[in-house]
Amino acid sequence: MRDDFGREINYLRISVTDRCNLRCRYCMPEAGYADIIPREEILSFEEIVRVAEAAAKLGIRKIRLTGGEPLVRHNVVDLISKIHEIEGIEEIGITTNGILLPEMAEDLKKAGVTRVNISIDTMDPEKYKRITRGGDLNRVLAGIEAAKKAGLTPVKLNVVALGGFNEDEFGDFIELTRRENYIIRFIELMPIGHADVGDSYGFISNQEILSRFPELVPVENEKFSVSDDYRLPDGKGKVGFISALSHHFCASCNKIRLTSDGKIKPCLHSNEEIDMKGPLAVSDEAVLEALDRSIHHKVEHHLLNEGAAPIERDMNKIGG
Ligand code: SAM
Ligand code: SF4
Repeated sequence: MRDDFGREINYLRISVTDRCNLRCRYCMPEAGYADIIPREEILSFEEIVRVAEAAAKLGIRKIRLTGGEPLVRHNVVDLISKIHEIEGIEEIGITTNGILLPEMAEDLKKAGVTRVNISIDTMDPEKYKRITRGGDLNRVLAGIEAAKKAGLTPVKLNVVALGGFNEDEFGDFIELTRRENYIIRFIELMPIGHADVGDSYGFISNQEILSRFPELVPVENEKFSVSDDYRLPDGKGKVGFISALSHHFCASCNKIRLTSDGKIKPCLHSNEEIDMKGPLAVSDEAVLEALDRSIHHKVEHHLLNEGAAPIERDMNKIGG
């Protein structure tokens, strides 16, 4: 299905929970649980599947589960199995902090997950603890190994670029792609929700990172990808740049988002939300109609650089 600007919309990102077992400074307020979505407002598996079925009828082919941390949602593997059965869905990805992957990678693969993106902003255990407010880096490293072992490859590693925090490690991350078939993706820090990165971490543009590594050569981007891809000349993997601010990719945006409390967000960077709970209470046709409407509500491009109102929802309540 095409939106009003001719973009083919084939990708639905589903946030299955706003809960998380970490508290990354750029994503969640420290007192994350003071502001949690009440349990009764979170969509049930049945409701999520009904939205996904309607989406598939409208041409959605790819689904990604995110959060919060998707792997903390109880029985999420069952949800994935159900989504896997939906006619038309060709790909199921998951974006995770990796903490629970050591135990879950095999089951996720069996349930139908094809791709996994693991967030890891530093390879220094102390710094990891600081940015995640308490996380254990060893769990993530074990999670990456478990994903590889389960065949959830190529593994994508998401690195939020934070000036003054992980700048000194960009080269190490890029170097990883020389010997491993990893896809490292640098993500620009986005001004979303009530995140607090403190005074010490700042925005650093992807152009700035690229300028520091002239050895990177451009390669063809993946179809419908929002990442600009490069590689080391002799590298096995790739290095991608997701530049939501400095060089936005709105013209090739192919996605809509479903929040865990049942709102469709046609654009990550807009406060507009379309309620799905009302339609879910009426009928599958009403769900289909509301989804169709939300695709037509996609804006041409975000206005973050033009002084748009800040995004009120925290990132853990949207799903990055
Ligand atoms: N918990 C999972 C994780 O961390 O991968 C999935 C949800 S998280 C909200 C999805 C992605 O959004 C992560 O890669 C995270 O680093 C990124 N993210 C969160 N807050 C962000 C922000 N303010 N700017 C840029 N990326 C952000
Ligand atoms: Fe949790 Fe992911 Fe947000 Fe970190 S980025 S607090 S792991 S949802």
